[in-house]
Amino acid sequence: MDELTHASVPAFSSISLTPDNLAAMQAHVSSLAPQEACGLLAGWQVSDRFIAVEAIPVTNILHSPVRYKMEPHEQLETFNRIESAGWELVGIFHSHPAGPVGPSATDIAEAYYPGLIYLIWSCSASRWSCRAYRIRSNEVEEADLILTDHLPPR
Ligand SMILES: [Zn+2]
Repeated sequence: MDELTHASVPAFSSISLTPDNLAAMQAHVSSLAPQEACGLLAGWQVSDRFIAVEAIPVTNILHSPVRYKMEPHEQLETFNRIESAGWELVGIFHSHPAGPVGPSATDIAEAYYPGLIYLIWSCSASRWSCRAYRIRSNEVEEADLILTDHLPPR
């Protein structure tokens, strides 16, 4: 991929969440390091604008520093919980405690939800950062991560 061309393309998707939700997610992913953490984002979606109201951790059954797989029963329970709350599944988050910043080759190959946002936490020199992506047909596109206490009305 041509990095310069990629960087000059504006993001078409965005995900909004509150600073409190982001801080809670960071506390969770950092508490599990050096293992990868993972979970689901609940909220709603208006075309390519995603709003996440909650980040729900799911156990990484691989307990690996470089891979994640959600515990299937817990994942299903979380899907059900999201649905019964009247929300939609809008994204998947996971962490890269030892990098890389963006999606790994495995993440791209195993991105089964082109309609969702992938939030990826990465850690470098003890500092965590979070970025958002769409992964569709093996193409990675960064999405805008919007932090706000005033989520748009549904
Ligand atoms: Zn990954």
